[in-house]
Amino acid sequence: MKNIKYDVIVLGSGALGLTVAIGSVLSGKKVLLVEKNKSGGECTWNGCIPSKAFISLVNKNYSGDVLERVREIQEEVYLNENPEKLEKMGIVFLKGKGFFVSENQIQVGEDVYEGKKIIIATGTSPSTPKIPGLDTIKYLNNENFFKMKKIPRSITFIGGGVISLELAFPLKKLGVEVTILEVSPTLFSREDEEIGVYYEEKLKKEGIKLYLGVGALKLESSPIGVKISSEEKNLMIESEEIFLSTGRVPNIEDLKLENAKIKYDRNGIIVDKYLRTTSPNVLSGGDVVGPYRFSHMAGYHGEVIVRNLLFPLIKKSVDYTSVPWTVFSNPEFSRTGLTKKETKEKYSEYTIYKLDKSENDRSLSTSEEYFNLEIIVDKNERILGASCIGDRSGEIISTIQFLKSKKIPLYKFADSIQAYPTYGVSLRNLAKKSYINHLTKYLKFLKKN
Ligand SMILES: Cc1cc2nc3c(=O)[nH]c(=O)nc-3n(C[C@H](O)[C@H](O)[C@H](O)COP(=O)(O)OP(=O)(O)OC[C@H]3O[C@@H](n4cnc5c(N)ncnc54)[C@H](O)[C@@H]3O)c2cc1C
Repeated sequence: MKNIKYDVIVLGSGALGLTVAIGSVLSGKKVLLVEKNKSGGECTWNGCIPSKAFISLVNKNYSGDVLERVREIQEEVYLNENPEKLEKMGIVFLKGKGFFVSENQIQVGEDVYEGKKIIIATGTSPSTPKIPGLDTIKYLNNENFFKMKKIPRSITFIGGGVISLELAFPLKKLGVEVTILEVSPTLFSREDEEIGVYYEEKLKKEGIKLYLGVGALKLESSPIGVKISSEEKNLMIESEEIFLSTGRVPNIEDLKLENAKIKYDRNGIIVDKYLRTTSPNVLSGGDVVGPYRFSHMAGYHGEVIVRNLLFPLIKKSVDYTSVPWTVFSNPEFSRTGLTKKETKEKYSEYTIYKLDKSENDRSLSTSEEYFNLEIIVDKNERILGASCIGDRSGEIISTIQFLKSKKIPLYKFADSIQAYPTYGVSLRNLAKKSYINHLTKYLKFLKKN
């Protein structure tokens, strides 16, 4: 049995683990990175990369085997994060499942490794709901979908969240009969109502069957594949495949957290604002902590951890006031900050700037099917929140996110020349409205005084 000492031990090599391991080694620390699967985590192997590759290939009418090409793209991404590349940087990569022996020790196989700091970056796994009959059938989830040999003829998604709303449209385009069953009465239940309504109509328009408010289900195998029934809703669907997309569970079960006195609950590991767990030298973040389960948030947590390891006396805390995200559906939906409902609850004075397709030359010139951008600002024209439905909404939100996170009033964007006809010009048009409002308020103020 070996006992080797490190400055930093990282458990898990997803977006968080890689950020911490690379950041720490670059700042001169001796780093051990433990990973039970291939390096890269959920994003490379079962999440962002394969799903975005799949969507993009289908949208571009890729003529070859789409799933095969997805797997090639994954291997291309892997070249940047494989063990050889990591070891060249100076990271010690260890393949295996790690668990806590004590507050400073991790065991992998027979060997124990000691770390001055230990980072839990173990992510989440798809949850398996308790549905009668589930144990008698084969099912898909994000872990085996991209490994399929061929695209099925029909698929039913159980759960109408982001994963289903991203995969349903390209599957339909490939000729698959797609059904979505969702327990909530609406889609996007945390967003303003019209967002869910838009996507409900869009799914219908594309011929994707959507059933909302579908709770208790029963599953049985059938000659086609699976029979899904809901007595309550008098519903019976037969489908070649079912895809379970009913949420995520934190990967904490095998970590023996009690050996290091680390507290957790059903949402994951409990941390403070500096991402410290209840054990003094153990930190955690990313999906196993939440609350925002995105690759960019795992990366952000990683940056906060690295910074605090380097400068322990001037610690940075996590700040969730400006968190953007994009749902790569058809079209994309993106948001940053508050919804209209949340704004109404928190602010008495605010303005909502809206821009739809009819006033947006980029959308008109590219025959974009639908576009809607809404930006909410406070009385000083500073951005409180924004949402956008449109082909490239993620890119538009990126600019808005920059203004928001730097607390730059929206009207300042009107000062920058943008190339026509880009979404930059569309955003500038809204910024001009903000400029006029700002000027009017200023003139009123001058008159008063
Ligand atoms: C279908 C899908 C699509 C997604 N698309 C997007 C997107 O477009 N944009 C976006 O921002 N986010 C997306 N996400 C979310 C994103 O994948 C996660 O937020 C991100 O991967 C979290 O990173 P992480 O480092 O916290 O955890 P993970 O990436 O889950 O990494 C955890 C790693 O820890 C390893 N591990 C677990 N236990 C142990 C152990 N005991 N010992 C050693 N290793 C262990 C695992 O094998 C894994 O490699 C998507 C997710 C899914 C499922």
